Amino acid sequence: MRSLLRRCAKCGAYTLRKDVCPKCGGPLEVPHPPKYSPEDKYQIYRIKMKVMAGKMPVKEETRLKILSS
Ligand SMILES: [Zn+2]
Repeated sequence: MRSLLRRCAKCGAYTLRKDVCPKCGGPLEVPHPPKYSPEDKYQIYRIKMKVMAGKMPVKEETRLKILSS
């Protein structure tokens, strides 16, 4: 999903607005999107499958986190 967040190029404030900065009226830019490689994108699914199959020993807390993601 693409971020809806915009950042003011002038004062650096973050906003959900798409036109101008609510603070100073400066121009908005899309903040640097996080770098994704296709491998990273699918890694969570591979981990999830392993955890679900019981092939990866993880802490209960971590397991719940992974399964709910
Ligand atoms: Zn601003």
